[in-house]
Amino acid sequence: MLENCSLCNLNCNVNRNTTFGACKCSVLPKLALASIHKWEEPCISGTNGSGTIFFSGCNLKCQFCQNYEISQNNFGKEVSIDRLANIMLELQDKNVHNINLVSPTPYVPQIIEAIIIAKNKRFKYSNCL
Ligand code: SF4
Repeated sequence: MLENCSLCNLNCNVNRNTTFGACKCSVLPKLALASIHKWEEPCISGTNGSGTIFFSGCNLKCQFCQNYEISQNNFGKEVSIDRLANIMLELQDKNVHNINLVSPTPYVPQIIEAIIIAKNKRFKYSNCL
């Protein structure tokens, strides 16, 4: 899928193993931050907070993006899919109400793989799979 990427409506049809499309996302998930977020909408954050994972890069080009350094300048660090799965589990262990993925679209295949790995361990926020 990533060798001829059409994961979003921009349909770059590039090989993400060798080049970048409009989102500037490579093959490995790149994260800017993973942490408890207590300031999302109250119905998401609840009392314990949301387990937020900010992905670097973005397929949207919103003019007033509040995460510009992350979404457009690609600030972040690449992690393996195994590590992404463990990050989800580590957030779960902090008793958050959910796992909250910010700008996940360019990484959907990697995220699905990570959720499956996490689910095979002890991940409980995977009811959709
Ligand atoms: S996910 Fe990125 S590379 Fe793929 S079509 Fe969208 S913008 Fe292009």
